[in-house]
Amino acid sequence: MAFGANELKQLILDVGSVIEQNKEMLTDLDRAIGDADHGTNMARGFQAVADKLEALSDADPGGVLKTVGMTLVSTVGGAAGPLYGTAFLRAGMALGDKESLTPEDLQQALTAALEGVKQRGKAEPGDKTMLDALEPAVNALTDALAAGGDVTTALDAAVQAAESGVEHTKTIVARKGRASYLGERSLGHQDPGATSTYLILKAMRDHLMRRRADG
Ligand code: ADP
Ligand code: MG
Repeated sequence: MAFGANELKQLILDVGSVIEQNKEMLTDLDRAIGDADHGTNMARGFQAVADKLEALSDADPGGVLKTVGMTLVSTVGGAAGPLYGTAFLRAGMALGDKESLTPEDLQQALTAALEGVKQRGKAEPGDKTMLDALEPAVNALTDALAAGGDVTTALDAAVQAAESGVEHTKTIVARKGRASYLGERSLGHQDPGATSTYLILKAMRDHLMRRRADG
């Protein structure tokens, strides 16, 4: 099953559609503990990504991801723009000039994305951010591949871990980003960025499952 730049572009477009479909929900979550812009920010960014990818020819998968990252940095704004931008840029850098991706490449790209978000945002899991979904997801994917699972099984494990991570954000106080201004009052609320991370991973898994079903 060859997974090259064109397949990756289709996957990113699917991710964008899922963000668009959930933008109100993401903005509502951000209304409770932030400034009610996370969904609109992300949807604007992924719309710009779709436009950029349409015009992008002869890029390798790493080049596609770097384009996604640079576009998100320049269009999403807020805290999430530089963080997601860094995630996609680092993922792209991790792929080098590979033309076709393996499950191990996905694992390395996601690991690089996680490290990038940590460095850029100086947050750790437990701070009630996207890292509370991303880190457990990357760990679960790594473990599933190491145990011999295929890519959809591994992404499935990642999605489940991200979903638990999102639930966990309801039980903790925000220590980074705008929500941290609320202190204890952020308790009981689900983190918008952890939720968008979960949605992105879920869209990736669903895309690959549909691809497999189509043969
Ligand atoms: P802003 O807070 O600037 O309005 P968004 O609303 O688009 O930006 O994104 C908010 C999300 O960004 C939060 O829900 C959180 O998950 C994430 N976030 C904020 N600060 C950090 C950080 N330092 N590290 C990781 N994620 C962060
Ligand atoms: Mg916001």
